[in-house]
Amino acid sequence: MPPIRLLPPDLVAKIAAGEVVERPASVVKELVENALDAGASVIRIEIQRGGLQLIRVTDDGCGIPADEVGLAVCRHATSKLATLDDLARVRTLGFRGEALASIAAVARLELRSRARGATSGRLIRLEGGRVVEEAPAGGPEGTTVAVRQLFFNVPVRQAFQRSPAGEVRQIIALCNQLALTAPHVRLVLEVDGHVALKAPGNGQLRDAIAAAYGPSVAAHMLPLPEMEEEGVRVWGFCSGPEEHRNTRLYFTFVVNGRLVRSPMLSYALEEAYHALLPGGRHPLAAVHLAVAPEELDVNVHPQKTEIRFRRERLVFALVRDAVREALAAFAPAPVLEPSVMSTLGSSPSAGAPASLPAAGSGQPVAPTTPAPAVAPGQAVLVEAAAPPPRAASAVQSAAAPPAGHLRALGQVGLTYIVAEDASGVYLIDQHSAHERVLYEQLLRQSRDAPSAARSQLLLAPETVDLSAAQSAWLAEHVAVLEALGYRLEPFGGTTWLLRALPAALSPRRAQAATRALAELIDGLIEREYGDGPLDDQARWAVACHSAVRAGDPLSPEEMAALIEQLERCDMRRTCPHGRPTMIHLSHAQLEREFGRR
Ligand code: ADP
Ligand code: MG
Repeated sequence: MPPIRLLPPDLVAKIAAGEVVERPASVVKELVENALDAGASVIRIEIQRGGLQLIRVTDDGCGIPADEVGLAVCRHATSKLATLDDLARVRTLGFRGEALASIAAVARLELRSRARGATSGRLIRLEGGRVVEEAPAGGPEGTTVAVRQLFFNVPVRQAFQRSPAGEVRQIIALCNQLALTAPHVRLVLEVDGHVALKAPGNGQLRDAIAAAYGPSVAAHMLPLPEMEEEGVRVWGFCSGPEEHRNTRLYFTFVVNGRLVRSPMLSYALEEAYHALLPGGRHPLAAVHLAVAPEELDVNVHPQKTEIRFRRERLVFALVRDAVREALAAFAPAPVLEPSVMSTLGSSPSAGAPASLPAAGSGQPVAPTTPAPAVAPGQAVLVEAAAPPPRAASAVQSAAAPPAGHLRALGQVGLTYIVAEDASGVYLIDQHSAHERVLYEQLLRQSRDAPSAARSQLLLAPETVDLSAAQSAWLAEHVAVLEALGYRLEPFGGTTWLLRALPAALSPRRAQAATRALAELIDGLIEREYGDGPLDDQARWAVACHSAVRAGDPLSPEEMAALIEQLERCDMRRTCPHGRPTMIHLSHAQLEREFGRR
């Protein structure tokens, strides 16, 4: 082995910087936290080329006194901590005094600041950690930090960066979370000149959620009851059982104003939804906690997003119970008392279809409030070229080739259709079944139908209000939705005009489909980077958002039509997410259950 030596200071600085500055989003987080610590009420974040070209954060906070600007960019220089005792009671987001120095070590950094009440300000520029300029400067009160050519001197990091698009996605997700962290701050994110987030900063968490995830998501979030136990307080919002995502990116946990990552809190949240969401799906939530600073260790990692609670169990139970209560207030009681179904999985019947769902999959879906009734014809089909929409509510059960297999008997809990055939009884999940039907119709249409036939024009176009990020995504990807039959036009700002819907959707669902558009786009933004081609993701998502829901009353004709369409599907036993569409109780099984055999 070569002899031991002390590393040169600039190498030490780069190694240390690597812990704080992992990627462009980490720079954004450190700079925004500094602005929040400075008491800013407006924070503007500008990004170019995924942040690798430029990250600029401007705030109207307290600023830095001119004679301290040089110190601010030095390692271990902070105004937020003086003694070891302070470390045990951190109230600011920063305290390690290393963010600016770390960023400066791996980029070209320019900091301009004017302290509140000071007549002039100061500017400092560093390249790869070395000061190249320091001078008096004008400008408004507050601070602007511009970081250019991040990692220009760290080839290893460059090699590990994702595409600018991937970095943008991380930065948008982070800024959305920061908006939910500090709803009292007007947070604006501009990506390559386009506004991707504009939080109102009015202190209302729900309005911050609307800015981040769109108004339709925000409108459906459930408030957590404010709960407090032994000095730990929780508040915030969580999604209802009908709203879910395929990632945990929509979990926001804020502890004493700090955005944190916590597997324990994630677990508490998911525990509250136990059995309410389909497998692999996750809720949305913004959960705030306030605890005494002594109860918390924030100095676990240089990025300060990991924390330790002194009383983990207490915090876990409090979060889980608050979310449970919110969900219970929303859906007081399950509709079905599934005593038969509970034994179903444990004694699979010989006569049951081979793909009979496994035990436990027959859990009741909590009913939602019924969708507001839409007068028939409110969304009217006027496109002559389009065939009538082949959706559950619009199609009468025309004699299908192997028709008459299943006969609808009625609806249970406004959620399941009871049906029978010669072999026994079926419970059909109306939402999953309709999802499957719509998905296959969309698939067939995209293969067979000319594009005009895929649309149904709305008599009166609907306006759809989107968040800035949703609107930006739509501007780029509108063709994906048009291929399915949507027709959308920009209508100024982040509002769009919806002129036509996929022909597969029933007119009766048109209003719901309009409302669900924002959510649909959210799902697609996420999946753009996921597996599978975007057009299939879009079919999948449209089917999910447009299908009848648990809680929707269905007429006998609608039930019959849905069943008939389901029977014509290629994969009728599961919905596109893989959840079962039906549960079968064979005659043999019924006889056994009733002791007839
Ligand atoms: P820390 O935040 O841990 O103190 P930083 O390196 O992030 O360390 O910042 C160093 C110091 O620079 C801070 O303690 C603060 O005094 C000052 N500072 C940094 N950014 C700002 C800002 N946007 N507004 C006012 N002061 C700032
Ligand atoms: Mg800091």
